[in-house]
Amino acid sequence: MRPFVYEQPADVSTAVAIASRFTTNDDQPTRANAQFIAGGTNLADYMKLGVAEPNRLLDLNKLKEQELRHIHVTNEGGIRFGALARMGEAADHAEVKRRYPVIADSLRLAASGQIRNMASLAGNVLQRTRCEYFRETSWACNKRVPGSGCAAMEGFNRQHAILGDSDACIATYHGDFAQALIALDAVVHAEGSRGARKIVFAKLHRQPGDTPHIETDLAADEIITAIEVPAIPWARRSLYLKIRDRESYAFALASAAVALDLDGETVREARIALGGVATVPWRAGAAEQSLQGKKLDEASAEATAEAAFAQAQPRRHNAFKMELGKRTLVRALLETRDMKV
Ligand code: SF4
Repeated sequence: MRPFVYEQPADVSTAVAIASRFTTNDDQPTRANAQFIAGGTNLADYMKLGVAEPNRLLDLNKLKEQELRHIHVTNEGGIRFGALARMGEAADHAEVKRRYPVIADSLRLAASGQIRNMASLAGNVLQRTRCEYFRETSWACNKRVPGSGCAAMEGFNRQHAILGDSDACIATYHGDFAQALIALDAVVHAEGSRGARKIVFAKLHRQPGDTPHIETDLAADEIITAIEVPAIPWARRSLYLKIRDRESYAFALASAAVALDLDGETVREARIALGGVATVPWRAGAAEQSLQGKKLDEASAEATAEAAFAQAQPRRHNAFKMELGKRTLVRALLETRDMKV
């Protein structure tokens, strides 16, 4: 590991000021010389592996703003998650479980208890891919070293994405919480040297295109301060289904976040997001549309799954994700329909 300066800023504006002194607005958060750290469950790993090499770490855990740690119901009936709240706190929060089971499920299934107790919510949504070729610095990787190539294209790409990929990168976005957030139209609050702003969650992550090293819409000196989920009373009928190699602890091979507004068995509105199969948190808009106004049964669920994967582009070792992804979504839709709420 390379030597680095370690600082604990006292408040958000100090953290932003230090970050902006050691980065430019063109820097990407994941490649900048100064980087923020909270739980460290992803960044510390990548520093040890030589994948991330910041020369200055800004530890956010001493920030004095207490709202960064709180989770509370908003006046409008949504939920606001402070960015530094831990995954475990959100997964166990009574109002999160009651109002948005899909969020609680996604966090509970995301990681081991130790990781859930350590990892911050904002850090979780910003986690980087676990592509094996990204993690091992001897391989060519456009995300780690722009323009160097992509070893995964012709390599062992069983874990890789079939949606949202490009000729430059097919790395999967491995988070779970983000699938629930994108399905529920969450909004991210961020603060940087250009001021405070809100980012629609669906615009936070960028598909790889020609620039896979640019992973989010954040500037290097911007801190996520909160994530807000709007009031959706019918989201009590929601769940997150995650299929993985090991039930105990593994990233998703395929997952589905589903919320349904039903009139009897007819779908008034559906929210669907897919995990384990795409380069970014993936909202399946066409699939949602195809289900609207229909009776939800096995046939319409299967048609919805077909629509969700119509644009998928499998590679040599991950073609199984097409069928697995569709079956995961069908099961998630039918289980959500049958929830007692
Ligand atoms: Fe790198 Fe992306 Fe290729 Fe993995 S898939 S080796 S992250 S460019």
